[in-house]
Amino acid sequence: MIHYEISLLSPEAHLFEVKIKIADPDPVGQTFYLPAWIRGSYMIRDFARHIVTLKAETRDGSVKVQKTDKQTWCLAPCNSPLQLTYTVYGWDLSVRGAHLDNTHAYFNGPCVFLAVAGKETEISELNILAPKNRKYENWFVATAMPPKATDTKGFGAYEAPDYEALLDHPVELGELDMAEFSVRGKQHRFTLSGRHSADLARLCKDLEKICDQHIDLFGELPVQHYLFLLWVVGNGYGGLEHRNSTSLMCSREDLPTSNMRSVTEGYRKLLGLCSHEYFHLWNIKRIMPSVFQDETTEREVYTRQLWVFEGITSYYDDLALVRSGVINRKNYFELLAETITRVMRGSGRKKQTLEESSFDAWTKFYKQDENAPNAIVSYYAKGALFALVLDLYIRITTNNAKSLDAIMRYVWQIHGRTDQGLAEGEFEKIAAEVAGLELESLFDMGVRSTQELPLKELLTEFGVDLYLLPAQSSSDKGRVTDDPPQAIDARPVLGARTIQQNQEIKLLQVFDDGAAQLAGLSAGDCILAVNGLRLNEKQMEQQIASCAKGECINVHAFRRDELMEFNLIPKPAPADTCVFHLRDKISEKQLSMQSAWLHIDANQV
Ligand code: ZN
Repeated sequence: MIHYEISLLSPEAHLFEVKIKIADPDPVGQTFYLPAWIRGSYMIRDFARHIVTLKAETRDGSVKVQKTDKQTWCLAPCNSPLQLTYTVYGWDLSVRGAHLDNTHAYFNGPCVFLAVAGKETEISELNILAPKNRKYENWFVATAMPPKATDTKGFGAYEAPDYEALLDHPVELGELDMAEFSVRGKQHRFTLSGRHSADLARLCKDLEKICDQHIDLFGELPVQHYLFLLWVVGNGYGGLEHRNSTSLMCSREDLPTSNMRSVTEGYRKLLGLCSHEYFHLWNIKRIMPSVFQDETTEREVYTRQLWVFEGITSYYDDLALVRSGVINRKNYFELLAETITRVMRGSGRKKQTLEESSFDAWTKFYKQDENAPNAIVSYYAKGALFALVLDLYIRITTNNAKSLDAIMRYVWQIHGRTDQGLAEGEFEKIAAEVAGLELESLFDMGVRSTQELPLKELLTEFGVDLYLLPAQSSSDKGRVTDDPPQAIDARPVLGARTIQQNQEIKLLQVFDDGAAQLAGLSAGDCILAVNGLRLNEKQMEQQIASCAKGECINVHAFRRDELMEFNLIPKPAPADTCVFHLRDKISEKQLSMQSAWLHIDANQV
């Protein structure tokens, strides 16, 4: 057994202190190392850079330590019980790292717990020490790690069966707000840290339905308890999945309040995030690529199937909201319209396939620069759309006898329950087998090519009309209309994403073949004047929109510190915005297809 102990050395200096006690260190010299990345987030983060000081000692005195690479420490040989003591700087405002100040403490194992080489399969005991300062006397601990001997506030000893399990339980300490709900008789806890005035009862009521929906899909809940750890900030969004818990971050305004009547857009986003991470407890935490089981987190691990895990999860996160009745049908199609619009707005979808996007996640999706929309496609968003295509295609072809639901249930049975990794390409084989269909050409098209997905053709069989139209304004993210949309003239646009910065308009992204790119403007340029006048972002948008066909406007912009002049001819907005029209009159067949897909009563359609 390896003993870990963590304490808050200095919340003011954002320092944790960690001690590792090993009774029988490797006599030829014990090695310690830290992961380079955290599971669920495919980027090399080099957590070891946050280790500030490190020393080793036995009862005979200090032991010499030598670093052999960026994340590995080798000790001189010693034969008696060893203690390693080190400090870790925690000031990462994300769900992936560690963060400590006088308001709370939060840590993920990969940031703070060194692996003891050769002993990774031994039981890890973690002792979480209560802060001594009376300022923190109302703090308590929230984690899904199994407690061994803890006090009423949760301080004390926890136990993980091995090092990987120790890494998979994020821990939050602070004056937390906590709520509980039960799903199928199993305890689900929800904790909030950060300032807020959320209606926790409402949140739990909605989450209970969403969780139940996911359990229904897979047929069972493979955990005895589950924990949602939510960190509320002014402006933030993110989540990371774990086997028995999830770490979430949201903006304060996304939380439900007691006077909230309908589901706001922000709250819908928060519910979608919770739904997403909960779905992962099956899809990636238990059903997982076999390469993730075979290799460790010291370096990149490559798979072409991230779209299976993130795309399918993204498909079901929103689908579960409508299936559980937490949002209505119109809301669901609004979310779907937004996803389709996001994919359609990037010409990167014509250059990168879903398999390529998965494989290159490390250096492309996770390291997006200003050219990302022109170069890559998201395996989340396009993956969700391919999951939709797969689901609808199978439903249509098998007359609703089979669906993606059936495939997921089967994958769960043979790969999830058994912890048997999913080999590359295996999902496709299983899908074809379960559906009883030849799916190779569909996968070739959706996963291995950059062809457009046949969403319009498939959705029409469900009584839903999809239109791709020019955006009405820069805030048009995709929408649902009550009447079939009329053809309108596309307004002229700049072809760039901008932000107002003081008195300048900064170009964040310049889209392929748009007016800005053709005029020679680049991401990073700051527009000072249009036709000799200073305008704000809104005014510029209006000025460009009012241009006659072929009209040229004069733009002054700074590139770094150099003033430049451009002649820009606005181009019509591309037809990249998804608008859904949900037909009033649909056939019996379409009605039954739609109600079976969305789990909505036929009379509600
Ligand atoms: Zn995810």
